[in-house]
Amino acid sequence: MHQLTLAEIARGLADKKFSSEELTKVLLARIAQLDPQLNSFISLTEDLALTQAKAADARRANGESGALLGAPIAHKDLFCTQGIRTSCGSKMLDNFKAPYDATVVAKLAAAGAVTLGKTNMDEFAMGSANESSYYGAVKNPWNLEHVPGGSSGGSAAAVAARLLPAATGTDTGGSIRQPAALTNLTGLKPTYGRVSRWGMIAYASSLDQGGPLARTAEDCAILLQGMAGFDPNDSTSIDEPVPDYSASLNGSLQGLRIGVPKEYFSAGLDPRIAELIHNSVKELEKLGAVVKEISLPNMQHAIPAYYVIAPAEASSNLSRFDGVRFGYRCENPVNLSDLYKRSRGEGFGAEVQRRIMVGAYALSAGYYDAYYLKAQKIRRLIKNDFMAAFNEVDIILGPTTPNPAWKLGAKNSDPVAAYLEDVYTITANLAGLPGLSMPAGFVDGLPVGVQLLAPYFQEGRLLNVAHQYQLNTDWHTRTPTGF
Ligand code: GLN
Repeated sequence: MHQLTLAEIARGLADKKFSSEELTKVLLARIAQLDPQLNSFISLTEDLALTQAKAADARRANGESGALLGAPIAHKDLFCTQGIRTSCGSKMLDNFKAPYDATVVAKLAAAGAVTLGKTNMDEFAMGSANESSYYGAVKNPWNLEHVPGGSSGGSAAAVAARLLPAATGTDTGGSIRQPAALTNLTGLKPTYGRVSRWGMIAYASSLDQGGPLARTAEDCAILLQGMAGFDPNDSTSIDEPVPDYSASLNGSLQGLRIGVPKEYFSAGLDPRIAELIHNSVKELEKLGAVVKEISLPNMQHAIPAYYVIAPAEASSNLSRFDGVRFGYRCENPVNLSDLYKRSRGEGFGAEVQRRIMVGAYALSAGYYDAYYLKAQKIRRLIKNDFMAAFNEVDIILGPTTPNPAWKLGAKNSDPVAAYLEDVYTITANLAGLPGLSMPAGFVDGLPVGVQLLAPYFQEGRLLNVAHQYQLNTDWHTRTPTGF
């Protein structure tokens, strides 16, 4: 039963082959048995899951239907869940029980999804390896000595290991697409404003966006359908109708114009990944797509710009964690300043502190123009590059990551080496565009992802291309040994 996709689960439940309660029990037992190897969950919510599963079964018995009704999922542990610990992977929030549900959590619960637990993540979503969590590193099910990617690494490892069919993630600079690539999943970062950020603990508010991680594009369509939509509680949420994503999966790719940026194939890219990307292009050509070389001339400036803007916003967002209102408070503070300093110094890990310092520096008087303002100008140039490219092509295709999953600890002493792994993903966040990563093959037994980018609100096009690709390839069906 654990091999079933969301789409197959929906059919099985509709045909009464099994109940949501039976399925939930099977998956909870599987998590208990296998997750100790992976560390992909921070909290399990067995009681809630069984209550939700029984309620979903009752709704089906009353004639209700729906692709998510009774479907087991998990949430990255930065989506607020009422009465349940929402830790953000940090000691700072280890004792924090959210007083309300995030919009994404509430919407999926209303659609009948069953929450099995909260998944592990890099502390405050800062990272590309899931090694900065207060709850310990997550392991990649394809090779337990390697990282699963980050920051949604817990969601990715759990889905890849067939502990559950799908999970939510968030993507500020690649944290859905990159772990999807490194664990052989399909992951979608929607257009900025497509999915509500209300109740999603903020890292960098102008870049953060929630989205689905699953094994197939078909399942990402189902989960995104339940997550997307206007939310008056989020002032950056966009009031655009949500199309039927599952309905657009079967569109023909005849004449689809695919742009491949020449800057993507520089020296930093593993040549074996480059070859797999070329193979995926050939596959799409067979389906009728027309391929063209394009240029994104400002791409080289994306990492420096992102690593100014994201820490700047983080330094501001994380100022609310002061030891006073909620979260960690140090023992025996001698005065207010000591309370602030020690609560933050003891509650935040090293990477979070590094980013707060970089961000506060970039925003400080005297440096603001040189760093923050400059980075914002680069951000606009990157967006303009994409706008020009999308005048010529329908989709941009390239690698999701320059390398396959690296060994645990390999980049710990050099944060910049980890930042460089984000080179292909962060441009979409800077521009606010939707992006998807899907399985494209293996290097040394480790999965490789191909990334597709589309114009604003064209999530349906990304899912359509990925679904057609998956009907004609079987990379996404491969299962890690031992799981
Ligand atoms: N690796 C990037 C960072 O550390 C992206 C993280 C994310 O998307 N949350 O900022």
